[in-house]
Amino acid sequence: MAHLRIEALRKLHERNAVTVSSPSPKVSDFFGENVFGAEQMRASLAPAVFQKVTAAIKNHEKIDAATADAVASAAKAWAMSKSATHFTHWFQPMTGGTAEKHDSFFDALSGLEKFKGSELVQQEPDASSFPSGGIRSTFEARGYTAWDPTSPMFLYGKTLCIPTIFVSYTGETLDHKSPLLKALKAVDLAATKVCQLFDKDIQHVVASLGPEQEYFVVDKALYMARPDLVMSGRTVFGHAPARGQQMEDHYFGAIPSRVYDFMKEFEFESWKLGIPVRTRHNEVAPSQFEVAPLFEEVNVANDHNQLMMDVMQRVAEKHNLKVLFHEKPFAGLNGSGKHNNWSLITDTGINLYAPSSSARDNLLFLTFFVTTIKAVHEHSDLLRASIATEANDFRLGANEAPPAIMSAFIGSQMSAVLDEMEKKGNVKIEKGDNMYMKLGIDQIPEIILDATDRNRTSPFAFTGNKFEFRAVGASDNCAVAMTVLNLIVADQLDKFYDVVTKDIEKGTEKRLAIANVLRKYIKESRSIRFEGDGYSNDWVKEAAKRGLSNVKNMPRAIEAYLTKESIGLFERHGVMSHKELEARHEIRLEAYIKRVQIESRILGDLAMNHIIPTAIAYQNKLIQNANGLKSLGVDNKAVIQTIREISEHIDTIKNGVRQMIEERKRINKITDTHKRAFAYCDDVKEKYFDKIRDAVDKLELLVDDEDWPLVKYREILFLR
Ligand code: ADP
Ligand code: MG
Repeated sequence: MAHLRIEALRKLHERNAVTVSSPSPKVSDFFGENVFGAEQMRASLAPAVFQKVTAAIKNHEKIDAATADAVASAAKAWAMSKSATHFTHWFQPMTGGTAEKHDSFFDALSGLEKFKGSELVQQEPDASSFPSGGIRSTFEARGYTAWDPTSPMFLYGKTLCIPTIFVSYTGETLDHKSPLLKALKAVDLAATKVCQLFDKDIQHVVASLGPEQEYFVVDKALYMARPDLVMSGRTVFGHAPARGQQMEDHYFGAIPSRVYDFMKEFEFESWKLGIPVRTRHNEVAPSQFEVAPLFEEVNVANDHNQLMMDVMQRVAEKHNLKVLFHEKPFAGLNGSGKHNNWSLITDTGINLYAPSSSARDNLLFLTFFVTTIKAVHEHSDLLRASIATEANDFRLGANEAPPAIMSAFIGSQMSAVLDEMEKKGNVKIEKGDNMYMKLGIDQIPEIILDATDRNRTSPFAFTGNKFEFRAVGASDNCAVAMTVLNLIVADQLDKFYDVVTKDIEKGTEKRLAIANVLRKYIKESRSIRFEGDGYSNDWVKEAAKRGLSNVKNMPRAIEAYLTKESIGLFERHGVMSHKELEARHEIRLEAYIKRVQIESRILGDLAMNHIIPTAIAYQNKLIQNANGLKSLGVDNKAVIQTIREISEHIDTIKNGVRQMIEERKRINKITDTHKRAFAYCDDVKEKYFDKIRDAVDKLELLVDDEDWPLVKYREILFLR
């Protein structure tokens, strides 16, 4: 039974380094060489056509057929000059990951390579295997993909990939990208309106995202010898190693050489695809790492993140490694997140979350800053829902992960500024810039936060010139969280604008009208602000006192999408209809149920077929030993004690697995998806997973190491 593990460990010793060489000493020589981006378009399209494309992108408009034809023809020529043979619409279905369906440029009928504008603009993949939450059965059986010109096409292998959205025939969105694009449009419109209160030159506001991606890297053979990792992405058993992360010596330490080679190669491949990968380092847990790109426009940044995750998996294969994106692959160690660094930037180049030394710009900054905090306060449940997944439940609130309680950290200086602003009562208006002095906002230092004023325990932290939404899970598609964040900020900005303009119409001085609303927002959103240790138990109590929610599991958390307020919010900005929200809800619950089912099965199978037989075999050895000792007249109490302990653990496991299977049978008969998901959460996952695991992990400590069937934590985390 243990042979798979022993075999894997032997393989590990035979591993050779895979040599990696840079395509060129200078990254700028090959950065973006596989991207059909603005530069390539400018070079290959007629100036008028190129202008049409860029204007359409900026203004969220449709591209007409003639322009699409021209772009398709240029893209084909470019791709074929780089030996491409196929094209594909590349999209992000709700199952996670990315999907594609390849068509060849070569057309056998005409004997020519062809790629028409209509093929660029729209395709019909067979959608029946993608989840639709009942939308397609009620409406129409087919869906189609449609070109997203705001994200550049790229060459992946020999295939020209076209980023697309995925919608049903009746127009309901079936992917992650469509609602995101709509939310980005909403935030552009709302933020621009507000900006124009200050500066009429601002025509657009673009949301930007820099996702810091955490991940684990393990040897492929060791990975393959863990059926739980293969099937569910996480280890369902495994005793904590003698040395975990308590030494904190992995963080910023030297990167192990095999992993280093892997990193170098995936960086080269990412750069070719125009993904601006910049930072790499070890993370807190052993074998955990992080990669961070330079921030980009949210939609492009998210496409790049999705693509990069794929590149990482493919490159890892070559190095006999496996990348784990699961939020909690190893119990007791740090989980993996995807910190979403986010800000809003005007087309005139102002980062709206960067405090400035000019008083006028500071009121603009404060407007966006305070409105964002207010939005988080109003919709904290929805924000929590946006990061809820089955896997993230293991991470939130456990071992150094932001808790399931949504709060915002803003740092001592910004706290002081807001307090000051809130305290000042009615401000008398004076002509000129003096008024800012009265508001106490005349001097916000340009760099608000130094490295020490950081709070790694907050799910939503202000980091000087951007917010960092840290609760997002490592395997998640950022679009889900980004849709909600941009939407709630858009909505709050709209509300802000309405009140302020009405007040101005009534004759209130503009800056005073703005300050009055901000002061009100600061007061109202106080409870969401928390500067202390978010991982502490005190905070859990304090948050309860403040009336903040702490929804521990995904099925309950995502209910927030279906409240009257949320539906109104999504519909008001045209991001999703009630029907789409319902459908998505259904899809997420179904996915949740399937995941818990799979984990429960794999846990049961491993326990019954691997762990118990191993424990019994070892117990038999001990029984022989006990009898031998007895026949020699030697004290065998210690051995008998161990035999008893093993029996107890075996009992716990057997009973646990049997009862868990009974529960599954009962729950599977529940027809209501909500109730079924709740039952899987409470009566399978919560009730049995830890209980069975605990007994198995204790057996791991008792049974002879040579006989143990599963690769141990210390092996998979420390051997390379
Ligand atoms: P940290 O100290 O958190 O590592 P960094 O400055 O390295 O901070 O930034 C982390 C991520 O935040 C990077 O991906 C970076 O590009 C991104 N980032 C920086 N500024 C912004 C911004 N204005 N908007 C969005 N993301 C940003
Ligand atoms: Mg960071």
